[in-house]
Amino acid sequence: MTSVQSGSARMASGLADRVLSEAAVCGEEAAHFASELIRVPSVNPPGDAYRECAELLGVRLEAGGFETEYIRGPGSDPKRPKINVLGLRRGQRARPALHLNGHTDVVPPGAGWTVDPFGGEIRDGWLYGRGAADMKAGIAAAVFAAEAVRRSGVNLRGTIEISGTVDEESGGLAGVAHLAATGRVTSRTTDYVIIPEPFSPDRICIGHRGVLWFRIVARGRIAHGSMPFLGTSAIDAAADVALGLQDAIGDLVTELPVVPEGARRPTINMNSISGGQVIEGLDTSAALDGHGQGLPSPCVADQCELVVDRRYLLEEGPDAVRAEVRGVLDAVEARRPGIQFEVEELLSVPPTHTPNDCALVESLARAIETTTGAAADLVASPGTYDHKHFQRIGGIGQCVAYGPGELEQAHQPDERCLLSDITQATQVMALTIVDLLS
Ligand SMILES: [Zn+2]
Repeated sequence: MTSVQSGSARMASGLADRVLSEAAVCGEEAAHFASELIRVPSVNPPGDAYRECAELLGVRLEAGGFETEYIRGPGSDPKRPKINVLGLRRGQRARPALHLNGHTDVVPPGAGWTVDPFGGEIRDGWLYGRGAADMKAGIAAAVFAAEAVRRSGVNLRGTIEISGTVDEESGGLAGVAHLAATGRVTSRTTDYVIIPEPFSPDRICIGHRGVLWFRIVARGRIAHGSMPFLGTSAIDAAADVALGLQDAIGDLVTELPVVPEGARRPTINMNSISGGQVIEGLDTSAALDGHGQGLPSPCVADQCELVVDRRYLLEEGPDAVRAEVRGVLDAVEARRPGIQFEVEELLSVPPTHTPNDCALVESLARAIETTTGAAADLVASPGTYDHKHFQRIGGIGQCVAYGPGELEQAHQPDERCLLSDITQATQVMALTIVDLLS
């Protein structure tokens, strides 16, 4: 991890103390508001209770002096409308504008819970429930950071925007991507974005690796399974490709401080493989005594399909990855006459990196040092999140993830978040709001 040496504190210490003590009180209120948010089971898939969650957030924002707007995302069906909420609290001017964004959707609870996943229980210094870390505590901390600034009586020059958006867990197209594509949140409206995802209150996430998802279809030639040399097996060719792709990724290590460290190198994951005859539901119980029903017929597979998830580094770039894949396919085609490959790209997201020395990162780092007494760690994410939409569609260069809770808690049974994390993150975000907007 990279440490940031912050400069001398710019904010007058009297003002900082006032904001910190208001934010300490607000941090406790944030934990209770996060508990309320957890009690709305906004589970994705399928996308339940988005409206209820948006309205709970909207009512709270209005109580804090925000004007709110509810924005329906594309792909809504009448039973499950994809409702986003956007709150705006103007200072003396429209700019600079700081946007705090959290996703209101949570993944399904899954098995293994010892507490009610939608109970929002607060016990022994922890908040429990689905979304406790990822990321209802973060949303609540952002809302109450803005509230702490208001209670401190600071007359802000710039504008605070807070949004709760849907569908992040399934790509964010009806959420942040929609707000950016329709011009609601872009570089024309907004200077800085903080996404309070659970990276711990002393870490700033400055970007993520790139991703290329693609489907490879191998086509061969059918023949009798007892004489495979008369056909061309698409499965054998796909197996060569799977191994070839693993060998081809090389051992480059990125400069980006990706955590965990294993993700500082390129990675590749075979998401799925399917080929030959469909054997789903095959009854093999009586197969060995010769009376089996529905045995597969002996055929050489003439088609096989791979779905591949390739994560790449800032230092590689997507074209190098495409060339690498094409190289492996060409080599297998040359070795296996009669095999042909088709490639289809399913998803392409380039890596992002917000500069370490931009105003947003430096301001957050100073606020972390003032609040916790420790230097901030800069980290980067192995996977992508809504940062990509703010940057690529919205054109906003200064975007980071910063929020309470541990990433390891995300999507786990008994998901939880330390109450002290929520308070610290509320304090850090409050100081950052004052620093950037006054
Ligand atoms: Zn999240």
